[in-house]
Amino acid sequence: MNQLDTWLQRAAELVRNAQEIVVFTGAGMSAESGIPTFRDAGGLWEEFPPEQFATFAGLLRTASTRPREFVRFLATALAPIAAAEPHAGYRALVQLEKHSSVTIVTQNIDGLHQEAGSWQVHEIHGSLLEITTRKGQFVKRLTRKELRGIVAALQTALDSSLALPRSLLALRKLIGANVRGIYRPNVVLFGEAMAEPAWSHALAAVRECDLLLIVGTSGEVWPAASLPQEARAHGAPIITIDPDAARGDVVLRGTAATILPRLLSLAGV
Ligand code: NAD
Repeated sequence: MNQLDTWLQRAAELVRNAQEIVVFTGAGMSAESGIPTFRDAGGLWEEFPPEQFATFAGLLRTASTRPREFVRFLATALAPIAAAEPHAGYRALVQLEKHSSVTIVTQNIDGLHQEAGSWQVHEIHGSLLEITTRKGQFVKRLTRKELRGIVAALQTALDSSLALPRSLLALRKLIGANVRGIYRPNVVLFGEAMAEPAWSHALAAVRECDLLLIVGTSGEVWPAASLPQEARAHGAPIITIDPDAARGDVVLRGTAATILPRLLSLAGV
């Protein structure tokens, strides 16, 4: 038996014995669905620095001083999310819900857990598919098909001689103003408060869980990165799934789409 097999057996036992499982996912969970992580080599932040493209003030400044670059950023960031489908790891988590009490806490904004069929999902950084006013009032929910339409329109606009007016038209479903003020995707940008009530629910779930399963997060984004400490504070064991995993009581070095189905099948779910 190699080391991964030994760790898998141990992790499977923890899953079997757990009553309240929290699965905490990050960008790595969606990598095999075709959505690149932002920090890994070749990630979004290399081409589009976060201070210009991931804060509200930075985005406003970029949109007003370099509108074409703003539109290019949106088309680049949205395209993989618009094309993504849940992989086998997502489906394994849906199966797990049928056997145990499972709460999914995700930093991702791509809606893939819900699309796979998971129902107890807290999106602590919000969702790209939910459009709200800046005060958080719900405006509408986009389908992934609508998102694909927006991306296609943005790409066509960028290739045309009338790039800016056409881009503005394409963006109206995503960003604009109505009688209630400016609306935009309900995603948490750097420096903004966590999405509520998702964050409060996530904290409560982690404080009560008896197993934390972490998948595909570098643990560099705060306060999300404090959740494992909350679990550890009351003695919940931690399983980590990540090709670069270093921390956790059980460390499964591998990818979400391969390890999750193996682990959950070993655990008998
Ligand atoms: P991160 O980019 O900081 O770290 C990604 C982690 O995933 C790394 O530790 C990496 O080793 C691991 N990883 C890479 N491929 C993997 C795979 N196939 N299976 C399992 N693990 C894999 O991601 P983060 O910690 O989630 O922080 C990024 C922030 O950016 C988050 O707040 C998130 O909201 C946002 N983001 C979201 C998406 C999305 O919605 N899909 C994508 C990129 C970034």
